[in-house]
Amino acid sequence: MVTQMSNKKKEYYHSVYLETDKCVGCTKCVRICPTEAIRVREGKAKIDSTRCIDCGECINTCPVNAIRIISDSLDELKKYKYKLAIISASYAGQFAEDIGLEKALKALFHLGFDDIAEQAMITDITADIIRDYIRTHPKIRPILSSNCPAIVRLVQVRFPSLLSNLLHIESPISMLAKYYRDNITIEEKLKPEEIGIFLIVPSASQVTAVHQPEGTYKHLHDGAIAISDIYCKVMDIQKDLDKDNRKINSYANGLSWAVAGQEAQEIAADDIRTLAISGIHNVIDILSNIESHRLDQYDYIELRSCSQGCVGGSLNVENPFVAENRILNMVRSSKKLDIDNNYFFKLYREGYFDVIPLEPRSIMELDKDIKKAIGLMKKVKETLNKLPGLDCGVCGSPTCKALAEDIAKGNATLEDCIIRTRKLKS
Ligand code: SF4
Ligand code: SF4
Repeated sequence: MVTQMSNKKKEYYHSVYLETDKCVGCTKCVRICPTEAIRVREGKAKIDSTRCIDCGECINTCPVNAIRIISDSLDELKKYKYKLAIISASYAGQFAEDIGLEKALKALFHLGFDDIAEQAMITDITADIIRDYIRTHPKIRPILSSNCPAIVRLVQVRFPSLLSNLLHIESPISMLAKYYRDNITIEEKLKPEEIGIFLIVPSASQVTAVHQPEGTYKHLHDGAIAISDIYCKVMDIQKDLDKDNRKINSYANGLSWAVAGQEAQEIAADDIRTLAISGIHNVIDILSNIESHRLDQYDYIELRSCSQGCVGGSLNVENPFVAENRILNMVRSSKKLDIDNNYFFKLYREGYFDVIPLEPRSIMELDKDIKKAIGLMKKVKETLNKLPGLDCGVCGSPTCKALAEDIAKGNATLEDCIIRTRKLKS
C-alpha cells in the first residue's frame, strides 16, 4: 500500500505534557521513550510533538512527577443536553469488593450522566467481526490489532511499512459511540451535537485518541475522563450510593479484554492462530520481527502498549495484578447479556467501520530534500565515529546515533558528550 504524505506540517494533539519547571534534567525519560521523542538540553527535558505517541512510559519513569496527563473534567458535561459515559473495561477492576462494579456504575448517574454504556458490551461482536476480517483478508499476515491507540501511533512513527497490517476496522469503543449517538438522536429526539459522549479511560493514549480521532478512532467522543478522577468522586459519594436501589445490568462477560492476552484468546479458532504481546518495548521487539517476516505464521497479533493490557494504564488507580484478578473473577461468574449484534455486523458489511488509511509520521528522515539528507547522513556517520558508542543518554539524547543526528541538524554539539569531553581533557 502506498500512502501519500502531505507537505503541510501536521499539528499533533497530546495528552502527555511536561512541566518544565519541575524537571531536574536527570535524563531517565530520555532513555525509556520508545520513539526517542525526548531530549534534555540545558538541564531541561523537551518532548518532540511529532514523535510522541502518548504511551505514558515517561510518566511512570520521572522521579519528580514532571510529566503528567491532561484529561477532561466533569465540568465538560454541562455543554450537553444528554450525557453518556462509555466505560473502559479496566474500570471494573479498580473497585474493591465492598464497592463492587454495580455501585461503581451507579456512581456515574450521580456524577451527572444520563446513561452509561460499557466497552464490554461489544466484545463478542468485535471478535466475530475481527474473525471475519481475518478470513476475508488472507493475503495480509499477520494482521495487527488496532485496539490500542498508542500502538497504532507507534506503527505510524517507527514501523510505517506495517501500516497495512493494522486491522482496518474501527476500535470497539468507536463503534459503540456511533451506535449510541444514532439511537439517542432518535429516542431522545435530540440533534447529534446536543449529545455528549464521554469515555472513561485508563490511559493517556485514549485521551489523545478522543481529541485527535483518526484511522481506527473516527467516531470518537466529546471528551475523555480519567478513571482515577472518577474513582476519587466515587469514594466521596459512597453513602449516597448505598441508598440507590436502581438495578444495573453489567456486561461483565465482556470485561476480559482489559487484560492482556484475552483478545487474542477469544479470537483464536481452528483456522486462526493468534499471539498476544504487551508492554511497549516488547511490542517494538515483535514489530521488528514482523517487519523481517519472521512471524508470518500468525494470523492475528494482539498488541498492547501497557504491561498487562489496559489494567496497566497510568490513569488507573489499582495495582494491575489485583485489577486483573478482579476482572477475571467477574467474567467467570457473569451471565451473558445481549446487544443488537445485527446492527454492528450490518454496518461492518457495508464498510461503515472501515478506516481511512493512516499516514506514516516520517520521523526518521533527516531532511525532505534528498540531496541535503545525503549530506546530513554523511555528517552523522563522521560524528558517530567520534562518539564513544556507550548509548548512556547522559548527553540528553537517547543514543550516540541520536546525538550524531541532533548535531547534524544543528540541535546539539559534540561538547554535549561529557564522556568524550572528559577523555579529551585527560
Ligand atoms: S508519552 Fe511515550 S512517546 Fe511520548 S514522550 Fe513520553 S515516553 Fe515518549
Ligand atoms: S525524567 Fe525527564 S522530565 Fe523527569 S526530571 Fe528527569 S529529565 Fe526531567
